[in-house]
Amino acid sequence: MQGIWIYSEDSTIAKQLLTAGLNLKEAMNQPLGVITLDAGQAKSLIDSGADKVVVLKGENNWPESYAEAIGKFAVQEETGVLLVGGTLRGKDLAAKVAVSLDAALVTDAQSIKAANGSLETTRLMYGGLAVCTEQVSLPAVLTVPPSNFEEAKPVEGRKGETSTIDVSEFDQRISVNEVCPIVRQGVDITTAGKIVCVGRGISQKEDLKIAEELAQAMGAEIACTRGIAEDYHWLPEERYIGISGQKVKPEVYISIGVSGQVQHVAGIRDSKIIVAIDSNEKAPIFEAADYGIVGDLYEVVPMLTAALGKK
Ligand SMILES: Cc1cc2nc3c(=O)[nH]c(=O)nc-3n(C[C@H](O)[C@H](O)[C@H](O)COP(=O)(O)OP(=O)(O)OC[C@H]3O[C@@H](n4cnc5c(N)ncnc54)[C@H](O)[C@@H]3O)c2cc1C
Repeated sequence: MQGIWIYSEDSTIAKQLLTAGLNLKEAMNQPLGVITLDAGQAKSLIDSGADKVVVLKGENNWPESYAEAIGKFAVQEETGVLLVGGTLRGKDLAAKVAVSLDAALVTDAQSIKAANGSLETTRLMYGGLAVCTEQVSLPAVLTVPPSNFEEAKPVEGRKGETSTIDVSEFDQRISVNEVCPIVRQGVDITTAGKIVCVGRGISQKEDLKIAEELAQAMGAEIACTRGIAEDYHWLPEERYIGISGQKVKPEVYISIGVSGQVQHVAGIRDSKIIVAIDSNEKAPIFEAADYGIVGDLYEVVPMLTAALGKK
């Protein structure tokens, strides 16, 4: 089996996967290509390390509808490894392509290493409580979470081939009747450099103000635990962090009244500095934290905000 291919409907994620792909290329001594739906990205994907870019051109606007075309292409190319951006759409497509390729499928691979003609991957399991290491034979299809790797650094003027495949056949079994876009309220916390995260230690919605003042003093975004968004509806759902929410990687993350259950901590692992404020010294968040303040958030947070305000 040969050839390493990358696919994502999002070209930023494709460039992140190129970082992993370039490591595999070096270890496996095989060419590295990217399959894209966006012809306008071909040059920058080559600059970022792709030897080949294949543009799929078709009339269908649903990225997952290209699974069959990608599957056929992967078989024809005798693909050894296909890295797929682990968005919801990417995961849907990866499963179908793995069937076409009769390949092993690993979802949410966090590290990928070539090892004796196979791959060694790691991924989190049991809500982030354990790391699962797997030996995967080739061909293999791997989905990789967005932001798991930095984008590959572009080198202006790198050489590579671009070709186009016209796709005209799509699976007719699913038709879209209506599209209801999710209305996003505010910023994308996955790209925030500083985060103040509130948990159920805040006893009423009005008290979010304490956290907002701290966030303002720090230039941070407000985020929360699942209960605050899903049960209390005090903040929009796109602001909750964790295994079923957003995965963040800020320079500084400060939690206020967050107990630190594994499902939440799985979303903050990649933060550079974690500061926890909680009244229970045995709260699990202190195990994940670099700095901890044991105390009543209603006393500690205003003091912190005032201290920051003096700077
Ligand atoms: C399948 C599954 C998926 C899940 N996914 C997620 C997820 O993605 N994200 C997520 O966040 N959760 C998730 N959860 C829920 C998770 O298990 C926890 O229940 C949740 O994270 C706890 O939220 P919390 O820390 O806000 O609340 P609590 O666990 O109730 O903690 C509140 C904390 O506030 C402290 N506190 C109380 N009063 C004060 C005060 N005055 N001053 C200072 N501290 C105070 C308490 O000591 C406590 O530590 C999931 C659960 C399941 C089963």
